[in-house]
Amino acid sequence: MNIEAIDKEYVLHTYARNYVNFTHGHNTTLYDDTGQDYIDLTSGIGVVSVGHANPRLSQAICDQAKKIIHISNLFAIEPQALLAKRLVELSGYDMRIFFANSGAEANEGAIKIARKYGEVDGQIKRYKIVTLKHSFHGRTITALKATGQEAMHTYFGPFPDGFVYAEDIEQVPQLLDDHTVAVMIELIQGEGGVEPQDKEAVQRLAKILKERDILLIVDEVQTGIYRTGEPLASNLYEIEPDIITLAKGLGGGVPIGAVMTRLKDIFAPGDHGSTFGGNYLSTRAALEVLDILEEEKESGALDHRMIYFEERLKAIAAKFSNLFEKEVGLGLMRGLRAKEADIQNEIIKKAFEERVLVLKAGRNTVRFLPPLTITKEEIDEGLGRFERALETL
Ligand SMILES: *Cc1c(COP(=O)(O)O)cnc(C)c1O
Repeated sequence: MNIEAIDKEYVLHTYARNYVNFTHGHNTTLYDDTGQDYIDLTSGIGVVSVGHANPRLSQAICDQAKKIIHISNLFAIEPQALLAKRLVELSGYDMRIFFANSGAEANEGAIKIARKYGEVDGQIKRYKIVTLKHSFHGRTITALKATGQEAMHTYFGPFPDGFVYAEDIEQVPQLLDDHTVAVMIELIQGEGGVEPQDKEAVQRLAKILKERDILLIVDEVQTGIYRTGEPLASNLYEIEPDIITLAKGLGGGVPIGAVMTRLKDIFAPGDHGSTFGGNYLSTRAALEVLDILEEEKESGALDHRMIYFEERLKAIAAKFSNLFEKEVGLGLMRGLRAKEADIQNEIIKKAFEERVLVLKAGRNTVRFLPPLTITKEEIDEGLGRFERALETL
């Protein structure tokens, strides 16, 4: 059976696909159909947070699938309620949660909350949302318009009104006016280049927004769920957002998104909803993911591997200073900034030949999003292969 031929014939060509055929995995290692091993420093773009084929997650999913996978949101769903409680407690924020199925959908929920917040006497009076130029917020029409990379808006219009793009965090205050209802940011732009925002600049912005009653939405689809070492990157930045969105790492690979807000009563029944969102399978999976990651954090193992990974990357940036300008990122969301734009594609290709998977970000960054359960041996093996790839350049 030729998967490549079938895929090309029947699946829409939205991805520049690599036709390796992975059949199974174990934590950070993937195996293809010829038995070759690969070290996965991408975790499926920040999704497989507890590794491939994590035995505890597999067991939890199997157990749940044998009981109930799905009913509708017209009935109480025990793991959904427990997951909401757990996320609120872990975050330390006094919030309520709505569950969706993806990052874009979580952001749609955030935008709907903001727009409803802008309503006075049945009319939307404040509707503008300021986002950043190099942001990424998803692929639905509205999330795409919220995404500040205008090259992505070439087709698909007309778009919803009301999105304004700031060059950077510092420029945001200049763009606020009487119609602004919210500002949406990533604390580390994942697709934009893995550059963490300056903590004090973010805190200053948060303060200005609070004074002007403008909502702060933090898109933590990529940075959330221990990716930076804390339950949320917002914890690390010591800010109190009004709305936070989550998705990628939360379900360990089972699709789930979430929007959490301190505006606990913003929605009434009928204002928002989802057929699949928060079902038994995805919320049971997410509860197990949180159990595993909380233990990793409590034991100190997560912090140790984050420090080790950073040290190794810094050493690589120094050793290959012909290629790289610096190492960037936080926790296990890391990047190597290349001196030359677009050389990242060559690096990713060479890395693949050495059987190590890495990602790109922006125009000149090689991005690393390994499973949060990566072992020291896997870090050594993966980055060892990566160095061998660099040596061929
Ligand atoms: C991946 C990502 C999204 C989109 O998530 P999907 O699940 O693909 O819809 C939104 N925001 C950020 C910051 C992301 O990294």
